Amino acid sequence: MDAADTIAAIATPPGRGGIGVVRVSGSRVPELVPALAGRTLPPRVATLATFRDGAGAIIDQGLALHFPAPQSYTGEHVVELHGHGGPAVLRLLLARCVELGARLAEPGEFTLRAFLNGKLDLAQAEGVADLIDAATTTAARAAARSLSGEFSRAIRAEVEALVELRTLTEATLDFPDEDIDFLRQSDAHGRLARVRAGLENIVERGRAGAALRAGLSIVLVGRPNVGKSSLLNRLAGDEVAIVTPIAGTTRDTVRSQVELAGIPLAIVDTAGLRPTDDPIEAIGIERAWQAVRAADLALVLVDAQGSGDGITVGDAAILAELPPGLPRIVVHNKIDLASLTARAEAAAPGADPVQPRAHVWLCAASGDGVDLLRREMLAAVGLHDDLSGSFLARERHLEALRSAGRHLAAAAAHLEAVAPPLELFAEELREAQVALSAITGEFGADDLLGAIFSRFCIGK
Ligand code: GDP
Repeated sequence: MDAADTIAAIATPPGRGGIGVVRVSGSRVPELVPALAGRTLPPRVATLATFRDGAGAIIDQGLALHFPAPQSYTGEHVVELHGHGGPAVLRLLLARCVELGARLAEPGEFTLRAFLNGKLDLAQAEGVADLIDAATTTAARAAARSLSGEFSRAIRAEVEALVELRTLTEATLDFPDEDIDFLRQSDAHGRLARVRAGLENIVERGRAGAALRAGLSIVLVGRPNVGKSSLLNRLAGDEVAIVTPIAGTTRDTVRSQVELAGIPLAIVDTAGLRPTDDPIEAIGIERAWQAVRAADLALVLVDAQGSGDGITVGDAAILAELPPGLPRIVVHNKIDLASLTARAEAAAPGADPVQPRAHVWLCAASGDGVDLLRREMLAAVGLHDDLSGSFLARERHLEALRSAGRHLAAAAAHLEAVAPPLELFAEELREAQVALSAITGEFGADDLLGAIFSRFCIGK
């Protein structure tokens, strides 16, 4: 990517629409505008213009907007041509821009330029892509918080606190006789503890946001006829799986997208997980196990009419085959037939991970108790049902936060020593700062840019 040249792209999605926008950014925009629109444009005013090709023939008529540098999205000269939203007319308009010296933009190149010109930091730029990709309204709101800089500001506040602590430490290193005094006078312990608590809070909000962004994969397992398809339909709110009273009708996995507290859930209903000689059924069963291995949470359905805890030998065999690290909830279905009421019992925190996180008694047929299940599902993956303050963190952000956390833990351990090794303490603080600054792109961003921006859509 060469930042000196002028780039152009169709910024609206392919297909027919009321309007379509071609966006151009770069140093050639001021000469391109009169050649294309037949006139110069007042800055930042929507102006009706006729767009013409090289021979003077009309391509389209529409609005043109000129944003002279640096007051534009990219920080460069930008023109937006709002024509009619047909694929052919937009291609002609784009071709004319290329004829006039622009080249086709790479995915995310406008936003990359905005980042390089200091219009956005890296976390905000990622917020742009995440807002476009948001699958639920809650995810969109969380992405908008990143885009507005709320996430970056939270990170920067911690970086500033770290810088202050580093400055105090470096000053003390220059006056070695007063080491212990510094630690006490500047309340180094307290400062460090506050930064660590601040980071933990950001991680917490980011973890919830990561679920909003990537969604969760939930798998429904259970013996044939316990009500998996019925529960799936309840959770999804429409008929996605075939429900029939004949054992083994759900031969294939059925995926369904539903929303839980704004989190996109991919729910996989599984073929009856029983040994079989039928080769087609065997394929379904193998796929079910693949889905189980990739899932975040398993819902194990059992029949509430069973005796005792309702878990039959067949259910116990399914439970035993689940990957040990996969959190699970046992759902006792058909309480109506067992004359039971809907309820939920959660396991004590810190209980054995292969123990179910919760047991929920419900009726998939009527929906009674399904809300209790939703709440336990969120709790089982470590989330609350209020995700309104979450940040749409990416894995790289969480990794950077975790890395900073590790360095700060090491720094705190140095402070505990009888004679704290201040050089080592200072070095851990520095490493933590480097990790945090990578989130906003202030440090070591070069190798990241390609990976981040290539996944944007064209024209953004
Ligand atoms: P699957 O094989 O596990 O997917 O089970 P289905 O969802 O196909 O359900 C099997 C049968 O049980 C169907 O006839 C359902 O209508 C019935 N069923 C499912 N849930 C309930 C429930 O909560 N109460 C009652 N009475 N019947 C249910």
